[in-house]
Amino acid sequence: MCGIIGINGFTDVSRELVLGLNSLQHRGQDAAGIVTFNNHFRIKKGIGLVNNVFDEKILRAIEAPLGLGHVRYATQGTNALSEAQPIYMNYPSGLAMVHNGNVINSADLTKRLREDQNRVIETTNDLELILYTLASHLETKNLRNFTVDDIFASVEATQEKVQGAYSALTLIANRGLLAFTDPRGIRPLVYGKKITGRGTIYAFASETSCLECLGYETVRELEAGEAVFVDTEGKIYSKILCRKNPAFCVFEYIYFASEDSVIKNRLVAGERVKMGKLLARHFDRKKLTPDVVIDVPASGYFSASGLAEELKVPYRRGLSKNKYIGRSFLLPTQSQRDLAVRQKLRPIKSILTGKKVAVLDDSIVRGTTSKRLVEILRESGAKEVYFVSSAPPIKFPCVYGIDMSIKTELIAANNDEENITRFLGADAVIYQSLEDLITLYPRNEFCHACFSGEYPTGICPDSLMEIQNERIEAKRKQ
Ligand code: AMP
Repeated sequence: MCGIIGINGFTDVSRELVLGLNSLQHRGQDAAGIVTFNNHFRIKKGIGLVNNVFDEKILRAIEAPLGLGHVRYATQGTNALSEAQPIYMNYPSGLAMVHNGNVINSADLTKRLREDQNRVIETTNDLELILYTLASHLETKNLRNFTVDDIFASVEATQEKVQGAYSALTLIANRGLLAFTDPRGIRPLVYGKKITGRGTIYAFASETSCLECLGYETVRELEAGEAVFVDTEGKIYSKILCRKNPAFCVFEYIYFASEDSVIKNRLVAGERVKMGKLLARHFDRKKLTPDVVIDVPASGYFSASGLAEELKVPYRRGLSKNKYIGRSFLLPTQSQRDLAVRQKLRPIKSILTGKKVAVLDDSIVRGTTSKRLVEILRESGAKEVYFVSSAPPIKFPCVYGIDMSIKTELIAANNDEENITRFLGADAVIYQSLEDLITLYPRNEFCHACFSGEYPTGICPDSLMEIQNERIEAKRKQ
């Protein structure tokens, strides 16, 4: 998963890009990058957090009125700097690009680009494939003067060829800023505007929270299969191009997006409360009566408060999170992940001792976090522990950019509820039911592939295997 931002301004936008990337940091912490354009492309990428990559000196060196930014969470390819975004090309046309998502027909596109265009694909980052496919269509137009129709026709041809999930931003040298989504709009992309004395500035970003932090008024989200283009004078054009049934990723609401973002007119925090409330009926069914509901900070908070409200049981903060320890999810070995969870989440014993504790997390992927937490809660004197997941059992790999692409790692793909309860050492495990989730996020508008195995783009078993193998290989190299 990644976060993207693009701004078409009249004066320097590099500082706004950095601030915007900071507010998208939750979407990726592996690498950060910015490209700006002012007669030349200027690019800076680095491994790690945004504030570790950019400083005042670098910002002065990339000052320009037009630019793109990216924070990366590697879900395909390795963590190497060479795989980081943005990427750009100078010939035969100047294009720079960032994207969020995952392409599922990489092998086919790589072959086509090699054979038909003699392109040399240098990275395993699928962004190259989107960029060169778009470029191959733009290059058939009049390079001295692409029209907006030329740009939109090239995007449409790209959407027809590139399968998977992608929200992309492209800087077209001397022309402007182009944004487009895949035909199903699987990944988020929104734009906003700021009126200045020199005209209207448009900004595109993965989430509304980012635009708001920068003082932009949100205009709207891009629709599935849509392209929006802002030229260098600030004139805006939009068109729905290749459009199929929409399938927005439901995991954005469950885990990924910031709680203060609004997606499809729904505040993420509010959606999490609704998911928590839906979980209460499972307690009645299983005749479980917790004394206290706690969350796994921070993404479990709103669902836990919704669950507690519905059960009429107090919500308390039973775990304290050390914000300075990095993500355990990405550590290469199980023992390292186990230790990291213990350091990161510390119990508040007086809330737990002698209590029947319902502990809510947004999801159970491999079961690492939940197993350790059950141990920690028991060591702190909890009488019973019910582990609650806002998400239904994750049984199928995500091929659209969420880092759960290896089926053998998914605990619910290989075990029933009883086995999972035993593995976690809990007294009960409660999952959201897929049917309940679908009442909130209907099948004809949302992607639930990681729970149902129904991939909205369709996917052949070979590609599914290839994506999993690539991920296994990338993790091995990390
Ligand atoms: P696991 O420990 O493997 O079961 O992963 C579950 C934990 O990781 C939960 O606490 C989630 O908040 C978090 N999580 C779920 N999905 C992801 C993801 N794609 N990337 C990083 N963390 C995740």
